[in-house]
Amino acid sequence: MSTRPCSRIACADQAVATLTFVYADSMAVLGPLSTSHEPHTYDLCERHARRTSAPQGWQVVRHKVMGEALWDGTLGR
Ligand SMILES: [Zn+2]
Repeated sequence: MSTRPCSRIACADQAVATLTFVYADSMAVLGPLSTSHEPHTYDLCERHARRTSAPQGWQVVRHKVMGEALWDGTLGR
């Protein structure tokens, strides 16, 4: 199992989630860390995943991560 660092500048925390931008639908999808790195995806640590917000006009879709309470509805509301 490989781990990757958070993709935010100056953050060295371990990534726990992957943010994917779906340009066609103006959607930012935040889900479990993906196994492969693809274009338009950003790995985020827990702290940054919590603070993620979408650009204006976009909606953020959060997937539940098994056994974790990362997405407790405190974000973007
Ligand atoms: Zn981070």
